[in-house]
Amino acid sequence: MADLKMTGISKSYGNVEVLKDINLDIKTGELIVFVGPSGCGKSTLLRMIAGLEKITGGELEIDNVVVNNVPPSERGIAMVFQSYALYPNMTVRENMSFALKIAKKSKTEIKDAVNNAARILQLEDFLDRLPKSLSGGQRQRIALARALILKPKVLLLDEPLGALDKKLREQMQLELRALQKTVGITFVFVTHDQEEALTIADRIGVMNEGKLLQVGTPEEIYERPANRFVANFIGQTNLLDGTVESKDTVCLANGTRIPGQSSFGVGERVAVSLRPERASLHRLGDGPDGHPSIDGRLEQVTYLGNALIYMVALDWMRLEVRTENHPGASGPAVGDEVTVSWEPGSVSVVGD
Ligand code: ADP
Repeated sequence: MADLKMTGISKSYGNVEVLKDINLDIKTGELIVFVGPSGCGKSTLLRMIAGLEKITGGELEIDNVVVNNVPPSERGIAMVFQSYALYPNMTVRENMSFALKIAKKSKTEIKDAVNNAARILQLEDFLDRLPKSLSGGQRQRIALARALILKPKVLLLDEPLGALDKKLREQMQLELRALQKTVGITFVFVTHDQEEALTIADRIGVMNEGKLLQVGTPEEIYERPANRFVANFIGQTNLLDGTVESKDTVCLANGTRIPGQSSFGVGERVAVSLRPERASLHRLGDGPDGHPSIDGRLEQVTYLGNALIYMVALDWMRLEVRTENHPGASGPAVGDEVTVSWEPGSVSVVGD
């Protein structure tokens, strides 16, 4: 188990800088998730921690030792990939034992380690089977068991659930989080899926174009996004363009003044981030007294079973409103003039 410290880490391929000035302390036993769109540099960062890619700038420390030039095998790190990478001709037990055999561990030690990992990962009934006879979720658990058996200080996971279907993926997300809390090993997890990041992480690092834009708990990231990109990438949001009028008022593009607290300077261009589920829809003029609101025309209603999504056309943009579905309730119809309102404290003001 280990602390991981990144100071000014960067990575260039030739003249192209794909990671820029990454600074982060990851505490022992923490589950950190790097999330960002494809190509933002997540895997490169993970591979640099593993020692599979050279670090071209900055320092990486594991337990207060700079490891930039330490080979992968001496970093105390194990890695799990999306592609499981199991040996097809070996049984589950042989797959799990392999690295310990190479490391010339005793038979008893190997047996104990395999049995222990099999118990934690619920693989006891499958130890004598070949991987091909097991489901995707079970194979991923073998890959995890094989990594954990090495007792790494840090476990790196690169899109480990990417090959699973949605239901199994969601189940494995919860299992993985529970597993990490049981074993207490530092996990560094990479995904492009923001819901997965919210579900699994102690802290999330949001990345874009080689930069680490914000690091925080899922709640901090969702409730107080650092900028437009984070607000838009983590969850759904409406970004209402405007300029700061005072420390608690924003003037929107159409001249409407709405409450929005920020530390931006007067006159700065900002956006007010209004989450669809924090907005409510009313017949024109029927919004609650004292709540900020905008009027528009209901353009589309989408039925999702447990929720309804309303698209409201304003003069200069479209707003999304999400409400729980209460059977039998009658709301405005497509084409009606409507008012969208929200609780004054439920928005955040973000910059570029
Ligand atoms: P992600 O994991 O977020 O999808 P990657 O870390 O795989 O992103 O890639 C980040 C960027 O680095 C991409 O623009 C990719 O094209 C570039 N890149 C990755 N590996 C190499 C390489 N070996 N040579 C040149 N460019 C690379």
